[in-house]
This record gives sequence, C-alpha cells and structure tokens, in this order.
Amino acid sequence: MKKILSILLLAAVGMMAWAQTGPEILIPKPVSSVILKGSAPSGLPVKEITGSKSFRKAVKDLPDYAAQEAYLLTVGIKGIKIEALGPEGLFRGRQSLEYLRSMAGENGRIACCEIFDYPRFRHRGLMFDLSRHFYGKEFIFKELDAMARLKMNVLHLHLTDDAGWRIQIDAFPRLASYAAWRPQPLWADWDKNGHLCAEEGSPLAFGGYLSKDDAREIVAYASERHITVIPEIELPGHSLEVLRAYPELACLDKDGKPVFTSDLCPGNDLVIDTYKKILDEVMEIFPSAFIHIGGDEAEMNSWRECPRCQARMKAHGLPDTDALQSWLIRQFDAYLASKGRRLLGWDEIMQGGLAPGAAVMSWRGTSHGIKAAAAGHDVIMSPTSWCYINRNQDNPIAGGGFAGGYLPLEKVYSYNPTDGFDDTYHLLGLQGNLWAEHIPSVEHLEFMAFPRAFALAEIGWTPQALRNYDDFRGRAVILADYMRSLGYNTFDLHSECGDRPQSREIIHHLAEGCPVKYITPFSPKYPAEKEASLTNALQGGWTYVEDHWQGFEGDMDVVIDLGDVKKVTFVGGYFLSCLDAWVGLPARIEVCLSEDGVNFTESAKVMNQSVAPEKGSSYNLLGAFFQAVPARYIRFKAFLSGRIHEDWIFIDEIIVK
Ligand SMILES: [Zn+2]
Repeated sequence: MKKILSILLLAAVGMMAWAQTGPEILIPKPVSSVILKGSAPSGLPVKEITGSKSFRKAVKDLPDYAAQEAYLLTVGIKGIKIEALGPEGLFRGRQSLEYLRSMAGENGRIACCEIFDYPRFRHRGLMFDLSRHFYGKEFIFKELDAMARLKMNVLHLHLTDDAGWRIQIDAFPRLASYAAWRPQPLWADWDKNGHLCAEEGSPLAFGGYLSKDDAREIVAYASERHITVIPEIELPGHSLEVLRAYPELACLDKDGKPVFTSDLCPGNDLVIDTYKKILDEVMEIFPSAFIHIGGDEAEMNSWRECPRCQARMKAHGLPDTDALQSWLIRQFDAYLASKGRRLLGWDEIMQGGLAPGAAVMSWRGTSHGIKAAAAGHDVIMSPTSWCYINRNQDNPIAGGGFAGGYLPLEKVYSYNPTDGFDDTYHLLGLQGNLWAEHIPSVEHLEFMAFPRAFALAEIGWTPQALRNYDDFRGRAVILADYMRSLGYNTFDLHSECGDRPQSREIIHHLAEGCPVKYITPFSPKYPAEKEASLTNALQGGWTYVEDHWQGFEGDMDVVIDLGDVKKVTFVGGYFLSCLDAWVGLPARIEVCLSEDGVNFTESAKVMNQSVAPEKGSSYNLLGAFFQAVPARYIRFKAFLSGRIHEDWIFIDEIIVK
C-alpha cells in the first residue's frame, strides 16, 4: 500500500512540476528543429558564442539580413548553447530559449534539441496609431517586449494626424502645446464635433505627446531588443491639427483666408521649410534609415483653388494635383537622402510619379506594392485585407470598437507577401497596422493586436512551406494564454466563434432565386452579389465590408417577382447596424403585395422598435405578417431613421414565406 501511494505521489509530482516542453511550441515556427535524445532541466547555464567558423559556414549562403539574425540554439543534457554571428542573432536565440524556459517552468525540462533559425523577411513590423488615441509611452515598452518575443523587428509609430500631434518639436512649440490636445477624450466624439484642438493645461484638454526624452527612451528600449522605430510625420494630407496650430501653412481661399481641410499647402515655401525643420528634429531622435512621411489620402480640393498651389503648378509645369503632390514628395525625398535617410510613404506617393529613392508601404491591396517593386523601389506590404488588424476579429456583439471588416486570425495567417510578385528582390517584408479610431485604451489595443500579431510575425519569419494554420493555431492558443498570464489582454482564442453562424446556413423561402427590381439603386460601393444578393438564400457575415451585405445610401425600395401567384404569410428583411460606420437600422419598413405588378392592394407598415447599439454591430429581422394573401409581386421599402450618422441601410436577404 505504501509503495502504491509513493508511485502515485511521484506521478502527481511529475505532472505538476516536471513539465516538459520543446521547439514545437515556438512562434514563429523555426526554420529547422531537430529533437535529440533526452531532456534538460530548464535552469542549465547558457553559453553564448559569436562568429565561430562553423556558424559562419552555416549562414554563408543566407542574405546578410537573415545571417545577422540567424541563431543556432542547442539544448543538451549538460548545457545550453546559443551561437550567432553577433548580438542580434544571439538576442533572437535567447527569445526562443526564454519562451521554452517559461513554458517548462523553473523545475521543468526542455527536450534536448537543436534549433537553426533565421528570418524570411527583413521587415517584420507593427504600426501603432498614437494620434487618434494617445496612451502615453509606458505601454510601448510592454508591447516592445511582446514584439521581441515574436521576433518582430520594426515598430512604426503613426505620430501625427488630424486628431492629434504626438511628438515634441522645439522649433514649433504649438504642435505640442495645442495640436496635441483636443476637447474630447474619444476620437469618435472629436470626429462629430468639428475636429478642434485645445490649449494644453486648459480644463477640457485631452491628449498629450511624447517629449523628446520619452521618444529617445522608446528608441533605446527598442534598440536593446533589436527593434527599429520608424517615425511617421504625415504630409501633405491628414494634417488639420498642424493647420490649427499654424494656419499660415494652409491653402488660401479666394479672399486670401486659410482653408482648414486636412491638407497642407504644397504651393507655400513655408510648408517645405517648416517640415524640413521638423524632420531635422525627428531625425535627431530616431536613427532609423527610413523616415515615414505618410503621403496618403490627401483631399487636394483646396489645391485646385489656392493661388499659391496654382502658381506652383504653373511654375513647374505640373498638369494636375497628383503631380503637385508628387513634386512635394520629391522635395522631401531629396532632403532626407541628403541627410543619409530614406523616404517611406503610403502607396499614394506613387500618384503622379514616385520619387527616385522612395520606398512604398502598400496598403490599398497588393497591386501598388507589386508595381513599385517592379519599378525598382523597395516595398513593405500591409494590404488592408490581411494586415489591418483594427478590423473585427470575431463576433462583434462581444467586443465592440473596431473598423469595418472581418479579419479573423486564420485570414491574417493565410497571407503570403510574395503572392503576385515576379521578383521579390525589393520586397522587404510586411507589417500589421493598428489604426486607433475605435481603440481608446491599451487593453483594447492589445485585444486587437494579439494573437493576430503572432500570425504576422510567423508570416514574416517562417518559410512559407513550413506554415500550416492548424499547427499554428494550437501554438497560438498556448502563447495567448501565456501572454494573458503576463498581463496582456489578448483576445481569447478559446472563445472564438468564427464567422456569423447565419452566414453559413442556407435559408429556404418563397423568394429564393427570384428576380429583384431596384426602384432605388444599391450603392456601387457595396453591391454584394448585385441583383442576386437579396434572394440568394444566404445571409451576410459579421460586418458590412464583405460580400453578402448590400448597402443603400438612403432609403431602399425594391420589387421582388415570385414568378407565380403564391400565398404570402410573411415578408421580412435582415438588417445590419454599425454606427461606427454610419450604418443604422431603418425606422420602418413598408411591404405591398400585388398579383399583377400594377395594383398593390395589400400593404403593411412595420415600425422598428430596436435602436442600433452605440458599439459593435446588431442584426435585426424586421418583417410583416399576412393572412395567406395571394401575391406574385412584393414591394419592399425601408426608411432611414433620420438620426444623425445613420446614413446607410445594409440588408441581406428578404425572406418571403
Ligand atoms: Zn495651396
């Protein structure tokens, strides 16, 4: 009896304290890992070796960036060894080891193994938007730790935008003391209330900025983790906050008054001088080779009227505003090059011709990046469909605060950056972008970032041939649980429900496959399956930015032809709301029935009793019952609520019973 007890006790101790782990749990998945015989206690001493002859030989065929990050981690029964060319490779190897050690626990064991590893791409980035919501600097250190663990190596900080300037610039103090503050803490409230700034220190001023010391601390902390920080200073669009602080940088209207759009005035030499001085101070803080100048989504309307812009276009023979923007970007491309730096911008900088040394961040799909690379420019891929992790990742009813679109972990993971490239020489890598319009807290930022950043990290590091979603997901669950134990608010994969269940079922009904005539047209921006959309027996998924939901910019009015006269007992439509995207629920619907398509004899009006929720999305069926009325034609109307910011109706499937 005593013997049995002690065996049981041993077994229990073994399970609890002697956890064993191995390279199969690592994210990103290593290039090669060989399991050797036996296991080692996780606390064994570690020997670090740089530049050995055998290691040099092992990496001699790798591109330089990969060789610098390559490491060989050997876990043996008597000791642990990390080999690399230099500190960067050692650091990456240490990250693998530290994760294995944490998962094994203090008294646990690591399977003896040999991991030889190096990255697929040189740029493996994440972008945080500090303008829309500013969270201070502390969280950045925490996220840099997470990035280091994922072997990511670029942090891109979106430091300036209409909603707030976030970096101290000595030559232009109003950027920090005024453009960095606004009367509303939440971006959505600021967006609805005139896009104003506020004086620092006034009772109603929310926001803030990184002091130069803060920024230097971030750069140093990142550098210790072999992560480069790329600053983004937006121009010429997304710059309203700058114009609020320095109206002399705005275009002029016919009366010579400044125009407060989001655009700087490319016709004004003062704009160029100002931004050269700003970039001087930025370059002094951030040693990165690339300086991001934004370049996206300039409205360009004020440029068409502004006398200075018109004079500039005439003087340089610039045919249109795209050419004017291109001219401006070239000034900064040349200026940054003269300082030994390189200009990086969103893919709109290609409009009107790309500056000679410029590199492109491709976000509007993949085609711009592919085109720029073919023309000999370096590119970083961050296409919205896979890399915009501010999109919703699961059931939006559970976790509000996202931009339109459904981007689950599996979709992110499915991205292969080389797709579509004939020649990948200029493809530097990829980046996830976390725009913060709907992300007011660090907790929410982490909820959006993780685990999707795991997928981005693995895409950037692991050879494509070794990637497999099912295998990855298992490791992602383990890592997300571990990160939660460290205090990261990661999305919980255990509760992932996947796409909207109703979108995966076929709903059979009387109008299935019947033609629909549009009295009011659907929006060409959200056509779904066009004329077939509302009667194809399929409902939409979680968000309006996908194939099934059909959008109407205003009231909707359609007629369905059932083909024959049938007895109708119910007509209803499924509506989606998403107030963040100005998609509301209709105030009421009206259904009219007819046997001949001319005389609509029977009709019903149904008031909507539900209100669209402030956050997230809702899905409502709104319909009318009839007492088996014979009808062939069904006219279905839905009317906007009339409330502010409920400009769209989104519907998928009109059900007839
Ligand atoms: Zn102008």
